[in-house]
Amino acid sequence: MRKDIRSMDLEELTTLVKEWGEPSFRAKQIFSWLHQKRVLDFDEMSDLPITLREKLREKGKLQNLTIEKKLVSALDGTIKYLFSLPDGEYVETVRMRYEHGNSLCLSCQVGCKMGCRFCASTKAGYQRDLLPSEMLGQVYEVMRNTKEPIHNLVLMGIGEPLDNYQNVLRFLKLVTSKDGLNIGYRHISLSTCGLVPMIDALAKENLQLTLSVSLHASDNETRDEIMPVNHRYPLESLLQACDRYTEKTHRRISYEYALIRGVNDSEKNALALAKLLRGKLCHVNLIPVNYVREAGYQKSGKQRLYAFQKVLTDHHINATVRRTLGADINAACGQLRREADTQTNEHRGDGF
Ligand code: SAH
Repeated sequence: MRKDIRSMDLEELTTLVKEWGEPSFRAKQIFSWLHQKRVLDFDEMSDLPITLREKLREKGKLQNLTIEKKLVSALDGTIKYLFSLPDGEYVETVRMRYEHGNSLCLSCQVGCKMGCRFCASTKAGYQRDLLPSEMLGQVYEVMRNTKEPIHNLVLMGIGEPLDNYQNVLRFLKLVTSKDGLNIGYRHISLSTCGLVPMIDALAKENLQLTLSVSLHASDNETRDEIMPVNHRYPLESLLQACDRYTEKTHRRISYEYALIRGVNDSEKNALALAKLLRGKLCHVNLIPVNYVREAGYQKSGKQRLYAFQKVLTDHHINATVRRTLGADINAACGQLRREADTQTNEHRGDGF
């Protein structure tokens, strides 16, 4: 097995180069080439002896990503990338520009197992987890392509980060490393559909990142219907895990709520949400649901959206309506990968 060199931390690299009979400072050089200069080939590591570069090539690999498609929004400059991975799978990454800097929305799996009814990512099925190197690759490739820095990261692309826990954690450690890109945990958000035991595991890490929880319903009946994960971890147990998370990390939790017309957007739903979140250190992000063909859900109208928000703020719950970016390029995740998959499969003629 060739080693995935970009996924290794400095300690592991040090052990590796020592095993190869090289001095340990070589590890630091390799790490810097990969995570600061962000090269794509061992041959570019010009201050390493040629024999070491050869060894790296022979025993290691880099899991580079290739840009297959790039869509730029004419409305707000949001950029959406479709990347291909070395094994021919696809993932999507979205670069958004805000006043406080550039944010990157990353994928952490090829597809998703969670099955949320309104989500495009899940429709094309789950293939595999992304490696830490492939998550880093999304960040580095976008930086290279735009020639601009990335200030904030959100793990809100394709996949469920807490279902790829070890790789995501390792990615976080690498991307926040002082010897790498050095992004602060306070500039990182991680979004989950609510895997309770993993929320507890993450709490133990006590990282200063923002945990986003995809709630999308304020009663179990509705949540069961739109998010299958709720059968396993219903609202009460999810919210208790969130309380434990806040207790441990002292971080405010961000609850995501996509308003779906006639499903979860009534006055009654808003009141129930206010009751659920009463007294919690939290923030609610309201989003009109993005239309996904197979799901058939419609977004709530503006009036309903703002009426829903008012119920929450009247009950002293901090709630904002999230600005939609990249509307003209279908920036919500999952859709490009699905198209690409369909095209290749049709091309292969296997009647997908
Ligand atoms: N699996 C994680 C992260 C990926 S999804 C999670 O569930 O949180 C990122 C966010 O987009 C989640 O809040 C998800 O519920 C939301 N989302 C998915 N499909 C959507 C759609 N069609 N419209 C609006 N939000 C959607």
